[in-house]
Amino acid sequence: MGATSEHPISFYQVANAQVQEAFDIFEADELTRVVLGAPKSQVVVNFPVRMRDESYRLFTGYRVQHNNVRGPYKGGVRFAPDVTLDEVKALAALMTYKCSLIDVPFGGAKGGVTVDPKAHSRHELERITRRFTHELGSNIGPDYDIPAPDMGTDAQTMVWMMDTYMNGLGANHKNAVRGVVTGKSLLAGGSVGRDKATGQGVVFAIEEWADDTNFDLAGARFHVQGFGNVGSHLARLLARSGGICVGAADASGAVADPNGLDVDALTRWAAGNGGVRGFDGAESVTRDEFFGLESEIFIPAAKEFQVGAHEAALLKVKLVAEGANGPTSPEGDAVLRERGIVVLPDILANAGGVVVSYFEWVQNRRSESWSLPEVDRRLKEKIRAGYRLVRNTAQEFGVHNRQAAFVASARRLEACYRERGIFP
Ligand code: NAD
Repeated sequence: MGATSEHPISFYQVANAQVQEAFDIFEADELTRVVLGAPKSQVVVNFPVRMRDESYRLFTGYRVQHNNVRGPYKGGVRFAPDVTLDEVKALAALMTYKCSLIDVPFGGAKGGVTVDPKAHSRHELERITRRFTHELGSNIGPDYDIPAPDMGTDAQTMVWMMDTYMNGLGANHKNAVRGVVTGKSLLAGGSVGRDKATGQGVVFAIEEWADDTNFDLAGARFHVQGFGNVGSHLARLLARSGGICVGAADASGAVADPNGLDVDALTRWAAGNGGVRGFDGAESVTRDEFFGLESEIFIPAAKEFQVGAHEAALLKVKLVAEGANGPTSPEGDAVLRERGIVVLPDILANAGGVVVSYFEWVQNRRSESWSLPEVDRRLKEKIRAGYRLVRNTAQEFGVHNRQAAFVASARRLEACYRERGIFP
């Protein structure tokens, strides 16, 4: 599925504009505006890797550390062919506001490597990951900056990052630094429930909205764009809560079935066939047909700027729950508002990933392993509190959910700076 309509300003400019709008709504003080006006640090590394045909290739990687006033920098690492510094800056800023909104003691960061993970063997990906981690050196650390998976990376990527970081430290310190990354495998010290955490968080957020608005989720139709970590887990979990998945799209194409897709079978199909396209029994639909499906809930879970004005006008839903980061362009947002479609914004709806990353980090520090019911219970509490904060802030200021989410999180950051000031 191709990209959306026009977005004349960059992802970082869009994120910044959303924050500036929030600052104006609650009349943020000067220090808050100045200090949050740009990322604290931007690391760009070019590093060589030997390919399987013995040739050498130079890759470019990024780590942007946006803010750490509330705790260590935290944020995913993206592997995609079109990763840019601008995109990583935008995603890092969103992490600062997400962690503040959902109230985990982290700041915001993001990383990326400009690489198409599908074009490389497992061994090449391992060498790329290890060399990138080595280049980052002391720019990451369990008390300083803690990466996690994002698009194109997974638990295996995190295990390679952890192992590389550990081995740079010497035997005495190795086991004290498992928390340098989160989203690891269970064997490496990961948390149960982290693999599904972002999707689970989206479902908890939708359930809160349904409770709040007396909307019956049983039998509600939904469609999801992006069928990777976030999209496939949330589709499975929402179907389990009574939802009917009437459409799914990914980079390979889009499929639909008004009677409901078998999400488990679709997940197996997508894993074995490189995407949802061609799924047995489902109808193949165009991008426009996909957005216009008869459905109550749409969940973008692919990437930024997928819902432009055109797509927003096609949607027939009541609710857009943003699994992806920045999936709605400003033009798309304006159309959704005009049409009265409620948005659960990314920094609330997809915060489940960073919440369970925080749980993983805490478990690593305490050498504990929590049970899945414990992780899910704590995650649900966090998402519930975040949802209520956004709803109450929206009512207090008479604004939309996205504005409210940025207002609530920026106010928390402002409170920190008011108390602490700046050094010297
Ligand atoms: P992933 O790599 O596992 O999956 C990405 C999916 O998007 C794939 O199905 C891919 O085919 C699809 N896709 C890519 N380009 C597309 C396009 N142009 N049209 C339609 N589909 C397309 O990535 P993920 O981890 O599931 O992340 C998805 C989104 O969720 C990203 O915006 C990411 O930043 C955000 N997010 C992820 C996490 C996490 O824990 N993994 C947490 C919070 C937010």
